[in-house]
Amino acid sequence: MTAPLIDPFARAITYLRVSVTDRCDFRCVYCMAENMTFLPKKDLLTLEELDRMCSTFVSMGVEKLRITGGEPLVRRNIMSFFNSMTRHLESGALKELTLTTNGSQLHRFADDLYAAGVRRVNISLDTLDEDKFSKVTRWGRLRQVLNGIDAAQKAGLRIKINAVALKGFNEEELPSITKWCAQRGMDLTWIEVMPMGDIGNEDRLDQYWSLKDVRREYENHYTVTDLAERTGGPARYVRLEETGQRIGFITPLSHNFCESCNRVRLTCTGQLYMCLGQEDMADLRGVLRDNPDSEQPLEAAIRAAIDLKPKGHDFDYSRQAVDGQMSRHMSHTGG
Ligand code: SAM
Ligand code: SF4
Repeated sequence: MTAPLIDPFARAITYLRVSVTDRCDFRCVYCMAENMTFLPKKDLLTLEELDRMCSTFVSMGVEKLRITGGEPLVRRNIMSFFNSMTRHLESGALKELTLTTNGSQLHRFADDLYAAGVRRVNISLDTLDEDKFSKVTRWGRLRQVLNGIDAAQKAGLRIKINAVALKGFNEEELPSITKWCAQRGMDLTWIEVMPMGDIGNEDRLDQYWSLKDVRREYENHYTVTDLAERTGGPARYVRLEETGQRIGFITPLSHNFCESCNRVRLTCTGQLYMCLGQEDMADLRGVLRDNPDSEQPLEAAIRAAIDLKPKGHDFDYSRQAVDGQMSRHMSHTGG
């Protein structure tokens, strides 16, 4: 193990999110346009390169690895990558291996993920209404995701549901989604819609439902207590006293919680983004491919990149225009 990764603002970088593909079997309206052009295969890190990349980060102090995308479970042979990461869990260097998924393939992979050492998954689900689900995901089927959730719970995986708060879309479902999560013993987090990527004709400001309003909606139904718990990300938690449930709010736009940020993001093409809301990145793929027999140049490139981690992001909806709009898609950077 080499010296830990500390950024210029004294934040230890212990959490890496890795996008393993930009592809997806859904076309969620806030994430993708219907007709997406995906990257050529040669641009993607191979599974072996992903292993080298992640293993190097783990040797530099990364303790938590979240696999995302695009939809991580549509990448061919992705289980071999999960299985190869198991060795870092077994050595104790990696404390948690996890993923964010749309749930469509979980009925196939839940048992294998558990066997690889995954214990928790985040599943994205914005509505429990079949028609609305088809509308928001364009290509998804609710039944398949619900089957995936069943399979995951049966396999012993803990589940957190992530719902994007969408004005005029899932507002009135807040009590029913909350109750459904409580009944199934699943945590629930609401995410504010972020200005990522060109999504075709959809209007960001139309989609934006402030989590301040979501919280107020909870206060209309429950006694809401703030929790001190932090995960190093932009999530804040409350407890609903009537049910004992923990509800999360991810508010990258209406609040700025960058001071405790402990994470960086690796794209499926091997670029390291130090901040979701900034363009600064380092191309690690070139370094990796130029040095097939030594990880030292990669380590040096990672350290140099972390030295550039900015203090915070520039997203801002407050002036009724989408400032800080990011041209890259969430599915490329990894949500
Ligand atoms: N396909 C997987 C999924 O949907 O969970 C993993 C990748 S997806 C990009 C990760 C998360 O980003 C999902 O919870 C999704 O709802 C969220 N997301 C995508 N685009 C977003 C946007 N513009 N604003 C806020 N959240 C977004
Ligand atoms: Fe696919 Fe996830 Fe984006 Fe939806 S949010 S289109 S499931 S990557």
